[in-house]
Amino acid sequence: MTQEIGGFAALGLHSNILAALTAVGYEEPSPIQSQAIPVILSGQDMIGQAQTGTGKTAAFALPILSKIDPAKREPQALILAPTRELALQVATAFETYSKQMPGLNVVAVYGGAPMGPQLKAIRQGAQVIVATPGRLVDHLRRDEKVLSTIQYLVLDEADEMLKLGFMDDLEVIFEAMPESRQSVLFSATLPHSIRAIAEKHLREPQHIKIAAKTQTVSRIEQAHLMIHADQKTNAVLRLLEVEEFDALIAFVRTKQATLDLAAALEAKGFKAAALNGDIAQNQRERVIESLKDGRLDIVVATDVAARGIDVPRITHVFNVDMPYDPESYVHRIGRTGRAGRDGRALLLVTPRERRMLQVIERVTGQKVGEVKLPNAQQVLDARIKKLTNSLAPLVADAEASHGDLLDRLTADIGCSPRALAAALLKKATNGQALDLASVEREQPLVPGVGGAPRERRERDGERSGEPRERRAPMPLAEGRARCRTALGARDGIAAKNLLGAILNEGGLAREAIGRIQIRESFSLVELPEEGLERLLGKLKDTRVAGKPLKLRRYRED
Ligand code: ADP
Ligand code: MG
Repeated sequence: MTQEIGGFAALGLHSNILAALTAVGYEEPSPIQSQAIPVILSGQDMIGQAQTGTGKTAAFALPILSKIDPAKREPQALILAPTRELALQVATAFETYSKQMPGLNVVAVYGGAPMGPQLKAIRQGAQVIVATPGRLVDHLRRDEKVLSTIQYLVLDEADEMLKLGFMDDLEVIFEAMPESRQSVLFSATLPHSIRAIAEKHLREPQHIKIAAKTQTVSRIEQAHLMIHADQKTNAVLRLLEVEEFDALIAFVRTKQATLDLAAALEAKGFKAAALNGDIAQNQRERVIESLKDGRLDIVVATDVAARGIDVPRITHVFNVDMPYDPESYVHRIGRTGRAGRDGRALLLVTPRERRMLQVIERVTGQKVGEVKLPNAQQVLDARIKKLTNSLAPLVADAEASHGDLLDRLTADIGCSPRALAAALLKKATNGQALDLASVEREQPLVPGVGGAPRERRERDGERSGEPRERRAPMPLAEGRARCRTALGARDGIAAKNLLGAILNEGGLAREAIGRIQIRESFSLVELPEEGLERLLGKLKDTRVAGKPLKLRRYRED
């Protein structure tokens, strides 16, 4: 809605940038963005202090892109980031925000990739260079002029760069740039070493700090769950199976995320709707009315769109995306626990957002304990409980009203009442999985945090490393080793196929083989530690269901 894009528009950004923001679906600037953007636009040097996840990339990328002249085909902005991953993330963000700026090019410069193409892109006039300091210094050694046209410098995550030992490289880079440039430094912390750099290389920098005020929250039970970003939807779906909620509001950061998550929930049969700034006011009011009277149970909202929602039915708040600051966290979870009722708030935390969790705990003075994803058994128990609860009240008088019909049907079909009741259950549950094996099969693998594989990635072949299954780190019996194959349920593999192949070709006794776990895209088998290498050698060329088994020792660390 124009009114909310106004939040960004009021900051003085270029219209092309505002257009790109509308496209990515940001509704309003985060606190560091509203403070830093005007300062950077004004041309002043700046030090920005804020935690991870507060939106620092856009805080510098948007004003810098607004100032760059795409017609000039020479490097104008240099962003330094501590690691290759962060450099790539920042480069991607610049590309996204400059979608409406024809002629603008971004080059990412980092180690581990050939230097030639990077240098070529710089020489061909990329206006934005995003680099790790080490590799950039290598380029400077080949061509000391590469940075001679830089007007804007950003040190992103400066504290991390120093921790990684880039101090000397930074000095070399500073020397290679014109003194007239504008310099901006972002850091979560400001140790002495950072202050020293600022003192030496920044000119009267304005200091911006996103300080957290103390907040109070009461009557709301809070918890957090560690999860990888690409597993959030799966995690939400699984949590909803076991949480006993009346109405729930789920917070995400972008309009697109409201639509995606609401669609995923609807597909699973939840009465869910999206609420974002693009939705007209009267339609928004209708959504909130529906949540009040039970036509909807879940609303997936951005902060802007959820402002002022007061629905006493809300028992749960899911913070699917991290809020930008503790204030907005407190504000969000205040949507539940209304009118003196109890509420429950859950926060999904990705590994890099750990620090924000600590800040929230500090500011609210409360511990936000950790919960784990419910396992298949818990999901099954919850489903059976729901079924029990829905049937129990009917038992009292159903026999009076439907008993004769039951007799007639059992006679007509020629089956026992038990068989008929089972058929009715099958119908009533719509084919929903109600035994452990089926629940396990149906639940997509949601690895916990700690380096476990993202299944999608594994499938796309983006990652070749051994996956580390964290969901079931079941203790191994003495003398057993766990082995893994990339064959899983999606290859049509069942435990008996694996067992058969290993027994036949490995020449083992049945007792020698321990538990076999079949997952969607891989399987785990417990085998005797003794003679394992020899056994794996024997099984080297074994095929199962027509595919190479390629059994390997599985390392869990
Ligand atoms: P930081 O550098 O402070 O750790 P990032 O710049 O990486 O944070 O931003 C974190 C996430 O928030 C990114 O996914 C980004 O797309 C998103 N984001 C940033 N600003 C906004 C905004 N104004 N509205 C919605 N999402 C935003
Ligand atoms: Mg960042």
